[in-house]
This record gives sequence, C-alpha cells and structure tokens, in this order.
Amino acid sequence: MCDKTVQFSVLCSMLDAVARSKKPLLKRKHLRTFLDHVYTDHEFFSALRLILPGLDKERGTYGLKEAVLGKCIADALGLAKESEDAKKLLNWKKGSNAGNFPLVSAEVLYRRQSSSSGNLTIKDVNDYLDKLAAAESRDAKTTILAELINKTNAHEMRWIIIFILKELKLGISEKTVLHEFHPDAEDLFNVTCDLKLVCEKLKDRSQRFKRQDIVVGKPVRPQLASRVSGVEEAWKKLKGKRIVAECKFDGDRTQIHKNVNEVHFYSRSFIDHKEYTDGMAAVIIKQVKIDHCILDGEMLVWNKLTNRFAEFGSNQEVAKAAKDGLETDQQLCFVAFDILYSGDCSVTHQGLAERQILLKQVVQPLKGSLELLFPGSGCGHQDQPLWSTLVHTPEEINKFFMETVENRDEGIVLKDLDSKWEPGDRSGKWVKLKPDYVHAESELDALIIGCYLGSGRRGGEIGQFLLGLAEKPTQGGHPTRFFSFCKVGSGLSDNERDVLVSKLKPYLREVGRNTKPPSFYIVTNSSKERPDFWVEQPEKSVILEITSDIRTIKSEVFAAPYSLRFPRTNRIRYDKPWYDCLDVDSLVQLVHSRSGN
Ligand code: ATP
Repeated sequence: MCDKTVQFSVLCSMLDAVARSKKPLLKRKHLRTFLDHVYTDHEFFSALRLILPGLDKERGTYGLKEAVLGKCIADALGLAKESEDAKKLLNWKKGSNAGNFPLVSAEVLYRRQSSSSGNLTIKDVNDYLDKLAAAESRDAKTTILAELINKTNAHEMRWIIIFILKELKLGISEKTVLHEFHPDAEDLFNVTCDLKLVCEKLKDRSQRFKRQDIVVGKPVRPQLASRVSGVEEAWKKLKGKRIVAECKFDGDRTQIHKNVNEVHFYSRSFIDHKEYTDGMAAVIIKQVKIDHCILDGEMLVWNKLTNRFAEFGSNQEVAKAAKDGLETDQQLCFVAFDILYSGDCSVTHQGLAERQILLKQVVQPLKGSLELLFPGSGCGHQDQPLWSTLVHTPEEINKFFMETVENRDEGIVLKDLDSKWEPGDRSGKWVKLKPDYVHAESELDALIIGCYLGSGRRGGEIGQFLLGLAEKPTQGGHPTRFFSFCKVGSGLSDNERDVLVSKLKPYLREVGRNTKPPSFYIVTNSSKERPDFWVEQPEKSVILEITSDIRTIKSEVFAAPYSLRFPRTNRIRYDKPWYDCLDVDSLVQLVHSRSGN
C-alpha cells in the first residue's frame, strides 16, 4: 500500500493503541507493526509528519489554538452562539472533559457526525492540513474544517484536532518514534533537522545509513547543557577535565549559516529567523572571513548608550526597527560561542579549545554587534566580570558564578574544553548553573487576586493564580488597591493547592466575557490578565511567598511596572494578613537598589 491508499482510520487505530497501552514495549510494538506492514511504497513521511508534528517544517503553522479552533469548529458545525455545544467548545476548560480540548470537541462532534469512517486516506488528510495552514482568514479555515468534518467521523476528527494542536501525548518520545522507523533516523535528523529528507533517505529500512556530516544550509540540533544544582555537583561532573566557565547569555540560541552572501539564522527549533537579516546579515558577510561557515551562539540586543546587553525579550522589536530602517539606541548583537563548520568541512569533531582558536581566526569581532566568546573575552569594562575564563577549582567556579550573577546575568555554563560538539547532546559536557537552581535572591509576598483553570492533568481545576501587589497605603491604613504583578502555577503540591482553593472558593467570582475586574484591582488589557475567576474580596484572600529567577523584568503584561521571570510559590502565608503583602513602591525600590540606579 502507499500513502495514497492507506486509510487514515488505520493510522488513528494505531495511535489509539499506542496511547492506550501502558507498557513502553507494547507502544513500540504497535508503532512498529504499523510501519512494517502498512507501507509498502516507503512514503513514510506522510505518516511520520502527523505522528511528529513538532519536527515537520514543511507545513506552515495553522494559527489555531484552542480558543480560535473552538470558534471555527462551532461555525463549521453551524452552531448558534448561545447553544449548549458552542458554549462547551468555547468554555473547554470547564465542565466534563475539562481542559482536554480534543475530547471536548469529540463530545460535540459525536452527536453530529456519522459513526462510520469517512474513508479519507492519509494523503487526503495531509492535503487538507496543507490547505488549512495556507488559509489566511478564519472563514477560509472554517470552510476547510467543515469539509473535514463532513468527511470524517468524530474519532478521526479528534485525531485531526490533536495534530492541529500538536499535542499527541502518546507517552512515547520523539527519539523512540524515530528509532522504530530506522536506527539511523535520529542521527540523520540531528544533522539536517529535515524530517522529509530523513524519510526519503532512509526509506529502505533494512539498509544502514553512512553517518552524514553537517552541511551549511541545514540546521543542526544544538548541543545542550545539563542542569546542576550547585558548584559541588558541577565539580563532580567535570573534575579532571580542562574546564572553561562562560557567562550564560540570556537571548535566543541561534545558529548562523553563512553561504557566501546568503545568511540564515536558525532557532533552536530549526526555524529560519529571516527577520534578523536586515540587522545582521551584512555584519556576518563582512566580519566572517570565509565563505562557508556555521557559527553557534546567542542572539541578543546591545544597548549602545549603556554599553550593556538589553533585557531579554527585545530581539524581535529591535530586528523590526532594523528592517524599518529606524535609528535606535539598540542593535542586534550575536555572541558566537562556537564554530561548527569552517571552509569546506565540519569541525565539530575537534575539541572546544581548538574550535575556539579557529573561531578567533575566522571571525573578526565587531563591538556590540558580533562578539566572540573565549577565555579572557569580556565587554572591555574593567569593572565588569569577564564573559569567559578558565577554572581549575570549585572555588574558582564559585567566584565566577557569584560575579556573573551579581552582574545580573542568567548564570554560567561550564564546558569541557576537550569535548566534541555533539548535535542534540545533553549528557553533561556542558553544564549550566543558574541562580534559581541555587538560591532565589528574593522572596516576595504577593496577594492572590485571580485564579485560572488549568488544562491537561489539572483540567477543570484551578491551576494558576494571578498575584497582585498593594498600592502603598496611607500611613496606618490598609491598602485599598492592588496592581496585577505576575502569574504563578508552580511550587505547590496538589494537596496544598486543593486546600488553598477550597479556602478561596467562597470568594471567587467567575469571569464572563463582559465581566469587568473589581474596581480595587488595577490590571492591563492583556489577555494574560483575564483569569477565570476574580477573588472578590481582597481581605479574604491569601498571600503567596514567591521566589523567582534572580531578575525582575519590565512588565508590559501586568499593571505593576515590573514582573518576575519564572515565578514559583515558595509557601502559602496563611500566617500573614492580606494587607501585609508587598507594595509596588517597595518593589520599585528593590529593583532599583539591585540595578544600582
Ligand atoms: P534555559 O531555559 O536554562 O536557557 P534551555 O533549555 O533553553 O535552558 P539548555 O541547553 O538547558 O537550554 O541551556 C543552554 C542554553 O543556554 C543554550 O541553548 C543557549 O541558548 C544558552 N546559552 C547562553 N550562553 C551560553 C553559552 N555561553 N554557552 C552555551 N549556551 C549558552
């Protein structure tokens, strides 16, 4: 059989069997049987791109998350806005099957679709999905979904919805799927990031494949760092090796491929960031002295006034300003910390120390625009710590870590100077040490002002909280207004959360489409700020002690001027009265005192 004739229902049955099986071996067997017996024409790509949607870069994005998808499906079914089923789709986080959008939609679809299979082939489904991704308007997407609904049953449609949301939850890793397809599939994918090519080259599954080297123009799966909880653990992992400690820059991991006058900027998930072209391509063409080269590093923003890297999160804005030809104080800056390809061959097999020498030979740095990382490099200010240094003892690691963190950098990465660069490897040749794994610098007390329903495992239950900070009260009084500050979901055990929610429940007001927040909460218009419930009386609410990454970030989402990165609940402060939460002025002071302003 070929992909033109394999029925989509066969794929659905296999996916059901994999999802249902508890034992990993059985899951693998179902997948293997499907691959071994269903395809005889080797068109594996059509099925594998559905099973591993995260690896398929052939199809654009659908632009459909649950909220919009729910509206499109309701329209495709011709449901009246106020009908029970339309409400069910739109309020998918509540009611039966809460938090599981595909199940909620299947429940609605079961009542409307015929029970027999629509006889679509896998190819038909892929064609429809191509059209869905290419459709620009919501109406056009709705029309395609309506056709799909007409030609499938609810069970098949549920899987299609799962593909669109890219959340298969099969309990089987991407690595295993690739391995069941072909023993060389993972290796080949790692150096090409191209699932279609992998399926074509390995279609004869009985033939082993000669290891392929990396090439300019095909992104490579990045080498990653394993996490350690402290200097001691880092030392245990790297003791006896030649170690370099580097600053962990807080930007976007980017792989730059230069092919004469053509430059590509690949993200960690192998997306080609064309928006960096205007700001960076000319710099790369000029400063990289060879025609063919792959650099590995971090894309950041450099502030020309402060002579420092800007806070995380401004890359896109600055890239857009460069595209629009706007003069600003900020510019893109690429910090190259590795070189993977030079001239006419890959250099990943060389040790890091050798690669760093090559990096310096091949790339001419340009202040604030193209920086290089090697022992001794830094921003050039004497009062600033180096970006990279050799370390020989745990004490030296600790010193570098403390200096780096005080400088408000994200943490450090320790690397074995003799190690090869391995695609997709996280085995510990690089280890990362971040302040939030070691100690949180600040513990802040914030008041719960809203609650969000969770999805997935905690579907239908409150899973996250919107926290607020007080407006500084007049002397002796209690605060009367609270500014939204951050959203927190992690840190509490299920039991702690259940007790907390049961205490808050009597005071929760469900948020409808037109519900305004209570007047004593100051919030922005951001959609992140729309919890599912407001806590109606702040005086009945509870304070959470929050720890976070060492730095605060300027907030555009929340009403308080700063928010936290990666906030986590440390403990519930039942012992603290509601009015004793942190106030906004104190937060601002705290931030300024830390940044030395
Ligand atoms: P995190 O969320 O901690 O950044 P991560 O999951 O994105 O982790 P990791 O592999 O765990 O990625 O950490 C390595 C990441 O750190 C790299 O992907 C890169 O983006 C970033 N990084 C910053 N500076 C360096 C550096 N000097 N060397 C290697 N990676 C660095």
